[in-house]
Amino acid sequence: MEGILLIRSSGEIEYANATSSKMVKLHKELFIRCKALTKLACQQKETITDSITLDDKVFIELIVVPQSSSKAYVILQDKSSQRQVVDMGKDFIASASHELRTPITIIKGFAETLQDLKDISSEMLAQITEKIVRNCTRMDTLIKSLLTLADLDNIPKSRFQPCDLVALVESCAHLLHTVSPTTQLEIKKSHDHLMISADPDLLERALMNLLENGVKYSTTPAHLTVSLTSKNGLAQIDIQDQGIGIPASDLPHIFDRFYTVNKAHSRRLGGAGLGLSIVKTIIEKHDGTITASSELGKGTTFALILPKSNR
Ligand code: ADP
Repeated sequence: MEGILLIRSSGEIEYANATSSKMVKLHKELFIRCKALTKLACQQKETITDSITLDDKVFIELIVVPQSSSKAYVILQDKSSQRQVVDMGKDFIASASHELRTPITIIKGFAETLQDLKDISSEMLAQITEKIVRNCTRMDTLIKSLLTLADLDNIPKSRFQPCDLVALVESCAHLLHTVSPTTQLEIKKSHDHLMISADPDLLERALMNLLENGVKYSTTPAHLTVSLTSKNGLAQIDIQDQGIGIPASDLPHIFDRFYTVNKAHSRRLGGAGLGLSIVKTIIEKHDGTITASSELGKGTTFALILPKSNR
């Protein structure tokens, strides 16, 4: 949600929406900057853009649009997530750009084909538009994954709460059943409850990524087993599939960003090799570990170990 302020060049706020009033109350230096820019925009009678970094992590873009000679609208956009993506390493940017460029090239190619073709059958039109839509979806998924990775760098500890792993796994099983009704999922549990401290939404995302991979890399209907155990103050979740397996030479790299065993296969399934790196980052944010073992043609098991909490 964008913040919008209407400020007089004398410095009073004439209007502030909820987002902007929260922002300026929280960060005095932001308000000071807004006032200074308003004065300048009113004097120059033109739109000014600027940016400010607050507390070393919140990156705000400001657009100041004069409304008259004595007041201006200030639009505040929190661009922290996008900024974080930009701040990541050069290799990462290069890989991300490459991955984004592929669907863009495909979309452009097909859009130009549509532009050039005078007579086009409805069948061909349907084929081309299907490809355009599919590649837009792929780009959308990729951008969401990139932003998730960026967001993971600033998860506040306040989002962590007592969480029952057994209940979370059962709710993931439910969710999986709705997206993949043919999948056979068995849950084996040594306890009725296993309490940990977690951000339940993030942990659910990690578990769903693993379960969905289990489905993606199996022939239909997939057979998955989730085992929950506990030992020495640690909770362990094993997610096992009976799918295609992972070659031993690829296994050490599967948690790397953009790593795929078979690029064409992953792309067809809508992936770009970011899923497991997101899972690993989430598990490490929970002070846990994740390892994988696999046998080609037999299946793969991911073992997650997380510290238990007392509550
Ligand atoms: P992708 O988007 O390609 O699925 P991931 O990061 O989720 O990316 O996985 C990285 C690679 O690891 C995949 O390309 C796939 O080859 C392999 N992989 C992940 N999970 C499994 C699995 N359960 N069975 C077989 N291969 C898997």
